[in-house]
Amino acid sequence: MADEKAAPRHVGVLTSGGDAPGMNAAVRAAVRGCIGLGAAVSGIRRGYQGMIENDLFPMQLSSVGGIINRGGTILGTARSQEFMSKEGRAKAAANLAACGIGGLVVIGGDGSYRGAHALHKEHGIRVLGVPGTIDNDIAGTDYTIGFDTAINTAQEAIDKIRDTAESHDRVFVIEVMGRHAGFIALDSAVAGGAEAVLIPERKGDVESICKKIEAGRKRGKISAIVIVAEGAGSALEIGYLLSKMIGVETRTAVIGHLQRGGRPTALDRVLASKMGFAAAQGLFAGLSDKMVCIENGKIVYRPLSHAWKHKKEADMELLSLVDALSI
Ligand code: ADP
Repeated sequence: MADEKAAPRHVGVLTSGGDAPGMNAAVRAAVRGCIGLGAAVSGIRRGYQGMIENDLFPMQLSSVGGIINRGGTILGTARSQEFMSKEGRAKAAANLAACGIGGLVVIGGDGSYRGAHALHKEHGIRVLGVPGTIDNDIAGTDYTIGFDTAINTAQEAIDKIRDTAESHDRVFVIEVMGRHAGFIALDSAVAGGAEAVLIPERKGDVESICKKIEAGRKRGKISAIVIVAEGAGSALEIGYLLSKMIGVETRTAVIGHLQRGGRPTALDRVLASKMGFAAAQGLFAGLSDKMVCIENGKIVYRPLSHAWKHKKEADMELLSLVDALSI
C-alpha cells in the first residue's frame, strides 16, 4: 500500500559501478513499478557522473520495452570520482531537486550503496539499492543480479576447454573473475567438474593440487581442470608452477570480461524483476537508505550500511565438494 506522504512523485533510476547482466531487467521492473504506482520516472545516464552532469531523461512504460533480454545496461554506468566529494554530491542533489526527483533506485554494488547512503544523509533524498554485480559478494543477500549469468558463462567456457583438455591429455588452468571473493570460482568449479579450485579466501597450495593431479594420473586420469579466482593468483603463474612441479603440459585460459556480458539467464531476469519491483514498492512504502535483498527466496529490506559493515562469506563446503567429487 502506497504511503501517500512518503511516496516520491518523481523517481530517478540509475545503474552504477560495474555492469552486470540482468541490470536491464531491474531497470525495467523499477521503471514500470514506479509508473504503476503513480510516479514520474527519469533515467539517469552513466550513474553518479550523469547525475552530476544533469544527464537525465524522462522514461515511460515503453522506454524499457525489449530490454529484459539484453546484457549490459541501457542507462550506461560509470565510476565517478567527483561524486566521492561532498561538493560533487551537492551538485548531483541540486540537479535532482531542480527536476523534483525525491527518490532514487540505485542498481549497483556496495560502492554505489555508499554513494547512495551519503546522498540520503546529506540531502534527504530517498534511496533504495538493488544489488547488481556478477561477484555475488554483497552481504545480506543470498544472490546478486548477474551472478547466475556469470557462472553459466564460465561453465560454458570450462566445458569447451574440457573437450581440448581431454583430447590432448592436458592440465588446464582457467582463471575466472573474483578479485576479493571466490563465489564465481567455487560455483564454476563445482559446475565444471574441476579437479581443484583456488580462491582469495583460501589461496591454497599448488603442492596439494600437484598431489591431486599425480594421484589422478596414477589411476589413468590424465587431463585436469584447475579453476583460479583472479584474486588467488594468475592462471599463467599457477600453470607454470604446476608444469614445473609435476612435469605435465599445462595450458591456461583467462575468461575475463566475457563473464560480465551476455544475455541474462532466466534466474537473473526473475531475480532482477523481483528486486527492481521491490525497490519501487519500498520507496512507495516510505522506506529509504535500504537495499533490496533476497533471503531464502523471499525479498527483505536491509540498511544499505549492511553491505559494508558485514562481509559475505563464501561457502567453504564447496571447496570440499570439489575435492570429494574429483577423486
Ligand atoms: P560498485 O557499485 O560496483 O561497488 P564502485 O565501488 O566503483 O562500484 O562504486 C560506484 C560509484 O559509487 C563510485 O564511482 C563513486 O562515484 C560512488 N562511491 C563509491 N564509494 C563511495 C563513497 N564512499 N562515498 C560516496 N560515493 C561513493
